[in-house]
Amino acid sequence: MSTNRSHLSDEAVRALTLSTEPWLSCEDCFALSDEFAELVLADPRTEAMGPMFVHLSACPACAEEAESLVALVAETAGVDATPALARLHAAHRG
Ligand SMILES: [Zn+2]
Repeated sequence: MSTNRSHLSDEAVRALTLSTEPWLSCEDCFALSDEFAELVLADPRTEAMGPMFVHLSACPACAEEAESLVALVAETAGVDATPALARLHAAHRG
């Protein structure tokens, strides 16, 4: 008799049960993305956008969008996006 009920990976379970207060919706995330890109480029270690990082860590679609925007804003401003992108990658991995 099989009692194997773990269809979900540990990672999926963690994402679903993650405590995410205050939670941002994808729409909120999108609305804040310009500000977020500028903040994270100015100080990659910023905790000012904590809820945004929480959302990005759980939402690959928004994380991808944010990375593209950060790269674009950095290029426009002539700054190095590497530290900010590293911070975003760290956020995804939790
Ligand atoms: Zn999202």
